Amino acid sequence: MTFVDLHLHSRFSDGTYGPEDLAEQARRCELAAIALTDHDSVEGCPETARACAAAGIEFITGTELTSEQDGNELHILGYCIDTQNPRLLTQIARFQAVRQNRIREMVTRLNQLNIPLSAEAVFALANCRAPGRPHVARALVAAGLCASLDEAFERFLKKNRPAWVPKFKMSGAEALDLIHQAGGVAVLAHPGLNRTDEVIPGMVEAGMDGIECFHTKHSTAATERYLELADRFHLLVTGGSDCHGLNKGKPLIGTVKVPYQHLEKLKARAAEIRAAASLR
Ligand SMILES: [Zn+2]
Ligand SMILES: [Zn+2]
Repeated sequence: MTFVDLHLHSRFSDGTYGPEDLAEQARRCELAAIALTDHDSVEGCPETARACAAAGIEFITGTELTSEQDGNELHILGYCIDTQNPRLLTQIARFQAVRQNRIREMVTRLNQLNIPLSAEAVFALANCRAPGRPHVARALVAAGLCASLDEAFERFLKKNRPAWVPKFKMSGAEALDLIHQAGGVAVLAHPGLNRTDEVIPGMVEAGMDGIECFHTKHSTAATERYLELADRFHLLVTGGSDCHGLNKGKPLIGTVKVPYQHLEKLKARAAEIRAAASLR
């Protein structure tokens, strides 16, 4: 049986691996295919595609968009997207600006708490267009202002902690539409993490194509439940490790076993979406 990992982050968002590292790790794990799903970014896709081609691994373009539905944060994975799609790139640029402004606001709040961190230090460490809270946490640790990433989140960055800043988010339906018009397949990421089962019927209604059943943080029972939901709503099944490189100790790539057959079905759906788009 061959396996794939369809949820990976790189240094183009909050992961530590570059394209070469991802291809090398995928080869080491004997994966048949990988998808790159950086937060609000598709920037790493071309380079990762080249690195995978050189390593003999199939590459699937992707992204992970943050959205909100009925007060729940939903992460929507987009697969087989056209990474040159103009509307997708315009929207991504907008989300990245929102992220950068949010970093500045979080730093201002930290400064008001007499924590002497500069926004520039965070941006230098992030070194990408889609910086987020993990980068602020890393900068706090690097500057010796917090002992650990956990401490940074607990004291300052978690929701409703003193340096937390709410983030503008598009709706779940908008995320689905953005992915579809870019020729991609839209999948709800790790529903077991966000405890958002109640939004699933509405998202199916809005055109969602699949759910991520296999995920590092899904228990066996959770995986079973989402496989059953996928079956009931006729949804595609996907999965991946959500590897962020060396950020959280050991790399997770390849640790979640997703059979290749699920990718086969996902690619067939992508072909249908593109065919329908060309008829419009
Ligand atoms: Zn992340
Ligand atoms: Zn992720």
